[in-house]
Amino acid sequence: MSANHTAQPLDFIRQIVAEDLKAGKNDGRLVTRFPPEPNGYLHIGHAKSICLNFGIAREFGGQCNLRFDDTNPTKEEQEYVDSIQEDVRWLGFDGEDRLYYASDYFEQMYDYAEHLIKTGKAFVCDLTADEIREYRGTLTQPGKNSPYRDRSVEKNLNLFRRMRAGEFPDGGRVLRAKIDMASPNINMRDPVLYRILHADHHRTGDKWCIYPMYDYAHPISDALEGITHSICTLEFEDHRPLYDWTLDHLPVPYRPYQYEFARLNLTYTVMSKRKLLKLVQEGRVAGWDDPRMPTISGMRRRGYQPEAMRHFCDLIGVGKRENLVELSLLEYCVREDLNRRAPRVMGVLRPLKVVLVNYPAGQVEELEAVNNPEDPAMGARKVPFSRELFIEREDFMEEPPKKFYRLAPGREVRLRYAYFIKCLEVVKDNTGEVVELRCTYDPETRGGYAPDGRRVKATLHWVSAPHARPAEVRLYDRLFTKPNPGEDKDTDFLAHLNPHSLETLKPCWVEPSLAAATPGNFYQFERLGYFCADKETGPGNLVFNRTVTLKDPWAKIQQVEK
Ligand code: ATP
Ligand code: MG
Repeated sequence: MSANHTAQPLDFIRQIVAEDLKAGKNDGRLVTRFPPEPNGYLHIGHAKSICLNFGIAREFGGQCNLRFDDTNPTKEEQEYVDSIQEDVRWLGFDGEDRLYYASDYFEQMYDYAEHLIKTGKAFVCDLTADEIREYRGTLTQPGKNSPYRDRSVEKNLNLFRRMRAGEFPDGGRVLRAKIDMASPNINMRDPVLYRILHADHHRTGDKWCIYPMYDYAHPISDALEGITHSICTLEFEDHRPLYDWTLDHLPVPYRPYQYEFARLNLTYTVMSKRKLLKLVQEGRVAGWDDPRMPTISGMRRRGYQPEAMRHFCDLIGVGKRENLVELSLLEYCVREDLNRRAPRVMGVLRPLKVVLVNYPAGQVEELEAVNNPEDPAMGARKVPFSRELFIEREDFMEEPPKKFYRLAPGREVRLRYAYFIKCLEVVKDNTGEVVELRCTYDPETRGGYAPDGRRVKATLHWVSAPHARPAEVRLYDRLFTKPNPGEDKDTDFLAHLNPHSLETLKPCWVEPSLAAATPGNFYQFERLGYFCADKETGPGNLVFNRTVTLKDPWAKIQQVEK
């Protein structure tokens, strides 16, 4: 078995896989699949499924297919197909040439449907959608047989072929499985297998005007690809009998089995693609890759790294019970990862000018700054220092309350990697707003320490005004104010959108080493959090997204638990 599994016990799905391999089932083969419908961008819930399906294949020496479940032509687009492939690759699951489309099996699925008709297991039904619903019964009441259920094989074949030939309008007829209208499982009450839809498909064009339903297409796709373990989320548990029925009644080349696990739900997040699409279509966010979106592309643009997302998926595990995972756990993973790897830099988000009155005009010093205290191998860099600086506006208070230890009139503080400075004078504009501080610096304190042992209570970040580069910085907060907005109906969840989820600051000032930042570069802005260069960043235009703040409630919680 895998060397990756030394510390953690196996989850129940990996246990099944391990046992099957040990027992020599499936001739020792292991094939999983990740089957997204290309009707939206992937989200963090899909990442869980990707890590599970591709992860198992990797760990146990099997294979995982990426299969587009493209059986619904009206909602599917090439844009989604492309983004899904990019996201899977970005998450770190790439290399193999195992790309499939359910639509490639349409012809085989059609032949199998004729097989079901010929063996008396399927019939063409002329009831309307509403009538089918009425006949279906309820959870407590059995359904009624369709009046078309006992059509002859010849009649059924003839009608089904004419459905394919385009003789009937959308919704005019359907093909249904003949199972049991009294089954306690509603999915087994003669479910629809094919419907008429005169719509162009993104891959098959106008070749088809009948399309298979998911419950029929999925097991067949699995069987044709030789999938051994078809892993899906719990809502498909009640569909498993139909999955099995379909395979048991067809001469498929292979017999896969379905296993269900609990989907990921995250606090302050909606995960349904329908709802995410609504956010995009109504312009509530700036697109599928808006950094506030729970999509993989949004999280990538926000600065989350694939390592952090995979670690998160490991931590939450795979189980059978539905639960709601704290968003702060994901942020904890992101922070841990960036803490190890992100170079430290200085940037000022809300600038306040500081003039050092005793620093020679025109003089510039290059001061040494550590790139990452967590990783000495990342070395050091030079940061310019001069007479005019910017500090963070909130690091100064004219009338500081008791516990405010930062800069105030008459008070001395340390500038990181630089000198002690002391505030002499406050300059205000005619509205009374502080626009500049006039300070002195102590030349004896170069590097940030006083030879006389004198101490200060605060260390501030800063940038040299003439050297700093202007930047736009976008701060993000959770997209929803309610812990579980996903429990709401399709429109209601919008009422819980956080109106303050995006704050744009401009101009901010960042140290000159950031001038060459390119999209995706990530940093820790000292004292402010982790940031990454947005995709809009280009020469002379710096845009940074705050990925996550520095404070970490999870670190504390974990310490308490130890
Ligand atoms: P919708 O959001 O509209 O319900 P979907 O998320 O089920 O759609 P699919 O494209 O069918 O979209 O999902 C592909 C795979 O990802 C499926 O196997 C599905 O079970 C899995 N998946 C989807 N959402 C989650 C989730 N939140 N957690 C874990 N796996 C998920
Ligand atoms: Mg689905």
